[in-house]
Amino acid sequence: MFEQGVIRPPGEAYSLLVRATRNCPWNRCHICPAFKGKKFSKRSVAEVRQDIDEMADTYGPGKNNFDNAFLQDADSLILPTDQLVEIITYIKHRFPAINRVTTYARAKSMKKKGPEQYKRLKGAGLTRIHTGMESGSENVLKIIQKGNTPKDILEGGMRVRESGISLCEYIMPGVGGRTYSREHALKTAEILNQIRPDFIRVRSFALHPMSPLQRVVDEGGFELMTDEEVVEEIRMLLVNLDEMPSYFRCADFSLNLLMQIDGRLDKDKDAMIREIDRFLSLGKDKQRAYVLLQRSYPGMKPLDMLEDEQLLEKLYRKIQELEDQEEGGFEKYIRLLKSYQLPQPQTKNWGENKSARSDKS
Ligand code: SF4
Repeated sequence: MFEQGVIRPPGEAYSLLVRATRNCPWNRCHICPAFKGKKFSKRSVAEVRQDIDEMADTYGPGKNNFDNAFLQDADSLILPTDQLVEIITYIKHRFPAINRVTTYARAKSMKKKGPEQYKRLKGAGLTRIHTGMESGSENVLKIIQKGNTPKDILEGGMRVRESGISLCEYIMPGVGGRTYSREHALKTAEILNQIRPDFIRVRSFALHPMSPLQRVVDEGGFELMTDEEVVEEIRMLLVNLDEMPSYFRCADFSLNLLMQIDGRLDKDKDAMIREIDRFLSLGKDKQRAYVLLQRSYPGMKPLDMLEDEQLLEKLYRKIQELEDQEEGGFEKYIRLLKSYQLPQPQTKNWGENKSARSDKS
């Protein structure tokens, strides 16, 4: 039976998932449970081709309705270009209707490939690269053990942009904590303004309780931000982003408090800032009511919902109950609800996870 990995971008829900490598070659980020406990390995082209054949048998003939394919897992660009070209070419051979092939990649792998290699990948049919930038701040990248520097991110991003392959950068508001919030927003904007990716996907930070970063929080070395503070940070980021033809997306991730902040920077930036200001002008009680509503029932919620007096009263009562139970009860409850939305690590000992690799690259 063909293999499939545990994650893919939201837009690839209906794509053919082809596993080119297993798990993550780095696997040390404190923000990411997805592959913890699992070893990285490269798969041979023969193995991947066999999977593609099995998928073609399973889904077709007459059922080969896929338009898109996504190469799993965390960093397909770590594979030699020849192998990737062969895999993409074979996908298109067995699934002729596929016209879009995308993948995740780490900045370090993106920067190792040169113009000629990107040209071959594009020629074979690689159309988009998704990459987890998280932050443009060196301090923040170190705190979360991202394993990339801002220079890696910039160089990797520029290489992809110059190739004409579409680029999607994922960023993580709140991940610098209170101490680095400002620096995180400004440095992230600075790098994004240079890369000018096609998509900026916003992934507001939530801490998994098993992450080693939780210990740092417990010892007072990292101050988590409230949802309201993260909204202010996103405002600072937006204000500092150029009006470029990049799509700024919050709508596809329910840990973003204001999922309605979603649009093109060259067309919708002012409207997005106005919506943030509407939230910030609500006052503390209504802001908390909105936070409770969104965290209890994740999904896009217009701010107008707060005009329902009965709903508002119910939310205020719940907030009061939580605060009466213990000091900081509301914030603790919200953090718990947010952590339920995260993927689970595949180990009970995340803290002891090393970048376990069964294959050198
Ligand atoms: S590079 Fe970091 S965030 Fe990306 S998959 Fe690996 S551990 Fe997760």
